Amino acid sequence: MAAHQDRIIVVGAGIGGLTTALSLHEIGARVDVFERVHELRPLGVGINLLPHAVRELHALGLLDALRAHSVEPTSLVYCSARGQEIWREQRGTAAGYAWPQLSIHRGTLQDVLLGAFVERVGQDHLHLGHRLERVEADGARASAVFRTGDDDALVVSGTGIVAADGIHSVARAQRYPSEGRPSWNGSLLWRGTAEVDPVLDGRTMVWAGHRDQKFVAYPIADLAGGRQQLNFIAELRRPESPLGRTEDWNRAGELRDFLPEFDGWDFGWLDVPAIIRSAPGTFLFPMIDRDPVTRWTFGRSTLLGDAAHPMYPIGSNGASQAILDARVLAGCLRADDDVAAAF
Ligand SMILES: Cc1cc2nc3c(=O)[nH]c(=O)nc-3n(C[C@H](O)[C@H](O)[C@H](O)COP(=O)(O)OP(=O)(O)OC[C@H]3O[C@@H](n4cnc5c(N)ncnc54)[C@H](O)[C@@H]3O)c2cc1C
Repeated sequence: MAAHQDRIIVVGAGIGGLTTALSLHEIGARVDVFERVHELRPLGVGINLLPHAVRELHALGLLDALRAHSVEPTSLVYCSARGQEIWREQRGTAAGYAWPQLSIHRGTLQDVLLGAFVERVGQDHLHLGHRLERVEADGARASAVFRTGDDDALVVSGTGIVAADGIHSVARAQRYPSEGRPSWNGSLLWRGTAEVDPVLDGRTMVWAGHRDQKFVAYPIADLAGGRQQLNFIAELRRPESPLGRTEDWNRAGELRDFLPEFDGWDFGWLDVPAIIRSAPGTFLFPMIDRDPVTRWTFGRSTLLGDAAHPMYPIGSNGASQAILDARVLAGCLRADDDVAAAF
């Protein structure tokens, strides 16, 4: 087993960064996490962890904590824009996997990872309010330059840098300066959560509609009194994106921009307009990703999660893949003393 005495710098305390830090700690490596925001708040809405990712979180000893705050979907139903069932399939353990699928609020998942990080690695190793500006990783050591205030720059060095700084990754832009904005596929997503009585058996994911107009819903938490927190995504094709130059996970959506198109979608067993109306708010995000790049590793730095391969925020991909990245990377570092070779 390789010994990594010198610390590894992880940039970003999102799903990929925190899972990387926990996995590196598990193999005995020293690790420090640097995150842009000053406070980690439970942002986002629901995400799905597929069995292959849950297996890895189980290996990190987190399955019980995650199970306590999530819902295990057992089936997925596809139906038409009139609510007629087209296809049904089983999910997670009901489909024969050894691990469940988990539907969970992104903030809750991040909180479970953060709690484990603080307990195992220590609060002192989490550095909030550090915005990565540049990575230098071609020599015998790696350094990262962070901004901690308007004028204050801080250079931090270690044996390697894992940049898990998300879809607008600074580390990736440094390596691929002419890449430009993520590509948009013509769909907009209004995402939200609503408190509801269980839909069907309370363990079913629903995909309704077609390519140009879709409504996806799945429960992410069991609440008191038999109620559930339902995550939903209302998707519409548009000739152009109204979002200007930034894609922001926290941008608020406006009901008037999409609700009228779902007006007739009360199927009896699923009242789409009522669910949308009862949500305290929505977030508007475009369906974007990026084309693959030729490599993620440059000397002693590498990209991970959305920074390496941003995926459409639908289909349970982003978080699950970032978790797998973290585990594979830690496995490579366990096997190899040479960080650059392991990366
Ligand atoms: C606020 C927020 C809300 C989200 N909501 C959803 C959602 O509702 N549904 C969904 O499917 N996906 C959501 N995502 C994306 C989802 O978490 C990722 O697609 C997936 O989990 C892969 O994780 P990641 O660690 O690669 O990226 P992320 O989870 O996006 O984490 C990236 C982290 O890097 C930090 N960071 C960014 N730039 C810098 C910098 N220059 N220096 C230091 N730190 C930096 C960010 O603040 C963030 O904490 C959200 C992401 C964010 C940041």
